[in-house]
Parts: sequence; C-alpha cells; structure tokens
Amino acid sequence: MEISLDVPFVLGVLAEEHSRAQDEIRDAGVVRAYENSRQRHDARIASAPDLSTLACRAGCTWCCHFSVDVRAVEVFSILDFVERSLPTEEKARIYAEVRANSVALQGMDDMERMRRNVKCPFLSAGRCSIYEARPQTCRNYHATDVAGCQQSYEDPDNLDIDPEFAPMVYQAGGAHVDAFTRAMRDAGYDTNVYEMNCALDTALSEPDARKRFEQKRAPFKKLAGDDVPGEFEDLAD
Ligand code: SF4
Repeated sequence: MEISLDVPFVLGVLAEEHSRAQDEIRDAGVVRAYENSRQRHDARIASAPDLSTLACRAGCTWCCHFSVDVRAVEVFSILDFVERSLPTEEKARIYAEVRANSVALQGMDDMERMRRNVKCPFLSAGRCSIYEARPQTCRNYHATDVAGCQQSYEDPDNLDIDPEFAPMVYQAGGAHVDAFTRAMRDAGYDTNVYEMNCALDTALSEPDARKRFEQKRAPFKKLAGDDVPGEFEDLAD
C-alpha cells in the first residue's frame, strides 16, 4: 500500500524517541530502556489520528501465523516476561513449540519463511500470552480490513497480497522503532534482525547470549542476523 509521508510528524517521533532512548539506555541499561520504550510505543499508536480505522480485534489471529522478526533486546525481554509471568506448564509448551518451529524454519531464507504459515508459540486459546511483551513487529502490524490478513493466511505463496494499513498508525509505530534502534546502534549494541523462533531457541540454548549482548558483542554464536535499515531513519539525516 502506498502512503503519503507526514514528514514533520515522523521527524518529531524520530527526534523525541531517539533522545529519550539514548538517555535511558545510558541510565537504566538497554533491556530496561527497551521496556520503557515499549510503553511510549503503545501510547504513540493509541494516539494516532486514524486508530479508529483499524480492524484489529482481540481474538483475530491471522497475523499470528506470519513470520515475525525481532532484535536481540526483544528476545531477552520476552524470555524475562515468560519466566516471570507464565505457569510452568505453559512455559514448557511454549519452549517446545519454539524448538519445533525453529527446526522447521532452519535454513530457510526470508522469502521461504514468508511463504510458510507457522503458528506463533505465544498464541494460546486465540490470545497472545505475552501481549505486554510482544515484539515490535506485532505492535506495528495493523490492518484496516481483515479480509487481506485472512487472504494472506490462506494463500501464503501469494506475496502480492498487501493488506490495507492505517497510514498514521504505521508511521507512528515505524518511526518509534527506528528511533529506538538507532539509539541502540549508536550505543554499540547489536541491532541485527532475527527470525523470532530461531532467536528464542538460540538464546535458550546459549546461556551466555544475554551477557554477550549486554557487553555489546554479537549475542548469538550459532545464528547470523540481518542488518536491516530502518524505513524512516534516513529522514533524520
Ligand atoms: S507474539 Fe503475540 S501478537 Fe505476536 S505473533 Fe505471537 S501471539 Fe501474535
């Protein structure tokens, strides 16, 4: 979907979030700063002027079968949330599904993954079991017409299906994520993008991954990430 950019709005989000994120990464640490940033992310989306056009509702789960990319900071925050908040049996179910999905997706490139529906391990009884800690990709995925999401689910090979988005929600969420990512990169942290199941599985099997990340080294020994440039970042240059 083509959108017309609201450049002053995007620049405002980029500047505000980048400055706040820089301060918080320095003062509170990167994972805590990310968790604070998540609340501002939700608030920005909630105040977007076209929020009411969204068709997304609790219990609608088509997009929870699509490929989700995450950064390392999200992986460690999600694992903290799971360990802190979910009962033992649910954790065991989630970690088993993470493992199975990771094995199924291993060796696939981005295009192959996009053509494959995989139920998210956090989807349980039609709800997101980590809603508060869900990835940035999920926070930013919105549609104004459920039919497009359903069509993508039913025809995953057809990458021409392009669900309709709300332009201001899209710009608010995208610019927010780009600003936080830039602040992490400026501070020297890994900002590569990883497939969520593979990254979670690797973090679970590499106990030193979080320490490496916090020491500003590559977090995962057995997983290579992609350096994906932010869509809105260049506007700030
Ligand atoms: S993390 Fe939650 S919102 Fe995101 S795909 Fe999984 S179940 Fe859906």
